Formats: sequence, C-alpha cells, structure tokens
Amino acid sequence: MNWRQGRLEPGDRLSVQERDERLAALTGDQQSYLQSMLTRGRRTRFANSLARAKGYQIPEDTDPEDLEQMLDEWVYAGFVDGGQVTPELRCECGRALRYRHEVRHKTSGITRYFGIDHLMEHTGIDAKVVADILKGFEAIDYELDEILLKLEKGWSFDPSLLSSPMPPEIERQVQLELPLLDRQILFLRRQQVEQKKRDHKERPVEERMTNGPLVMDDLFGATFPGLPQPLASAASVSENEPSDSTPVPFDLPVTLQEPVLNYLRSGTKSVRIICELLIHHHGAPGGRFSTGKPKLFPTVCLFLEGRSEWTGSSIGQEDRSYTGKEKSDSFNHSLG
Ligand SMILES: [Zn+2]
Repeated sequence: MNWRQGRLEPGDRLSVQERDERLAALTGDQQSYLQSMLTRGRRTRFANSLARAKGYQIPEDTDPEDLEQMLDEWVYAGFVDGGQVTPELRCECGRALRYRHEVRHKTSGITRYFGIDHLMEHTGIDAKVVADILKGFEAIDYELDEILLKLEKGWSFDPSLLSSPMPPEIERQVQLELPLLDRQILFLRRQQVEQKKRDHKERPVEERMTNGPLVMDDLFGATFPGLPQPLASAASVSENEPSDSTPVPFDLPVTLQEPVLNYLRSGTKSVRIICELLIHHHGAPGGRFSTGKPKLFPTVCLFLEGRSEWTGSSIGQEDRSYTGKEKSDSFNHSLG
C-alpha cells in the first residue's frame, strides 16, 4: 500500500459528532493514548502561551514540565469529556458542561474548573493570552482530526522511517497502529538527516559524550522546519549572525554557574529554559540570534559539556537537555 494514501487536504476537519463516532470505533488503548496526547498537547500550549506573555522565547516543542518551571501562576491540569452536556460537570459559574477543563495555580494551589469559553472569566488570565491559548488548543484538536482522518483514508506507515531512533511517544503511536502526524513524520525525517550528517563528521569532542554528540550547528542552530537539511544549513550561515552587538561571553560567568546547576538540580532540563531564567532573573546578557535563541545558549552548553556529571542530548532542532548522571555526590568529580 502506498504510504502516501491518507494525505489530508488543507481544511479537512471533523464535526463534533463525526469525531465522536470515529473515536468510539477505536480500541480502548487507542482512545486513552489519544486522550493523553490531547492533554499533554494542551498543557504544552497553555504553558507556552503564558511563558511567551512573560517575554520568554522558547521552542514550540519544549516539554510542559520544563515550561512550567518558569511559571508561577496557572498550569493546565487536564480535562474531562462527559460525552454530552451533563450536570456532573459544571463550570465555576454553575453552567453544565460536556468538556470541563482544569487548571491549578502553582503558588496558591487553587484549582479552577471551567468550560473553555470561560477560561478568562475564571482565571483572570489576560484576554490576549487567552486568545493565544485558544488558538493553541484548536491546533491540538486539529491534530486529533488529522489522526482520525488519516486512519479513515487508509494511511500506512512508511517503513523507511523505521531506521531512525523513535521517541517513545511516536513508537507507542506506531505500536497502537495510529497514523503519525505530519509534524512527527517531519521530525523523524529530520532526525535521519541529522544522524547521517553526524555519521559523516568525525569530531574528537564526541568521544566524551555518551548521548547525542554536541554539534556546533546545534548550538547556534537556526534550522527551518520543512527545508531539506543542506538548504537549512546554508541558510543558517546568515541566521548565525548575532542580531545585535551585545558581547557574548565565551566562558559562562562565575555568577551564572551556580544558578545553572541549581536549575538542573531542581529538575529543569532544557538549556533554552535555563537561558530564559538566567536572562530574566539573574541579569544575564539578553542578546538573541534572529531566531530568538539567546546568544548565551552555546555558552551554557559548553559549560555543561565540560562537567562530567551532566549528560546532554538534543531536543529537536533548537534546544539541548542535560540530566545528571549521579544526582548528588558527583559534583566534586570534575572532568580533569
Ligand atoms: Zn463559567
């Protein structure tokens, strides 16, 4: 079967009833996978909108756990679908709902339940931010439609994608015989191209990195979704030019080193997030490349690459994550 079968036309959408019917025809495992995909997607979009409103600039695919480290107010906690409007599910104002969303206030611990059109009324989140969140939620709904419609149109998995290492989320989706989203396919293809690129490059520095070698392109990387890699690399030459003349420290200033390590110890993994926190809370230089990536990013990565207790790996095209090899007692063993 041609894997291209099942391509969607722009604007293909399902009505609520069509979506319900298609969902009901799925297995229990497929349904619960899609439910958790929706929850996680909304949680990410929600945190992303709030973080952007605070002036943080982070890649779209950053984990919600990491994003929420930057927020001290509302975080998305999930939703319930009653199947129909039911008195069991009520908005804060008492109105009966079918879909009830839940957010939790990080500092006060307060939880609020509401129908999505009362998000602003019951949380006090600014109207502009609410509009951005709703746009994000709509995009998540569209992803559900994309999967359901592809399933209906006989989508099948392109075996050439199998060669790349699969993130657990995608692997699970394939196991459950659920079609992949266009963005997931793009991600896998990009990963393959990057892997090939790495196989061709011999870098002595890679020898001490066990998980995902650090490539300079990753650090300054300005890559463009949808472009074949050679084009993206060529384009990144101009993108790599700093957008202003703020001096970029090559070595991470001593005053920023401890904050970086503290963020990692408290569970933040994303260097992009750590850079935002350093800029906003520790007076770090705020210069950015034209893609929005802080100029501090490569500096923080190089600092961490020099510390044997942290292991780095790439997150998508625009970020790196670091996790501790041994959580507590290894801080005295330097690389030497
Ligand atoms: Zn309400």
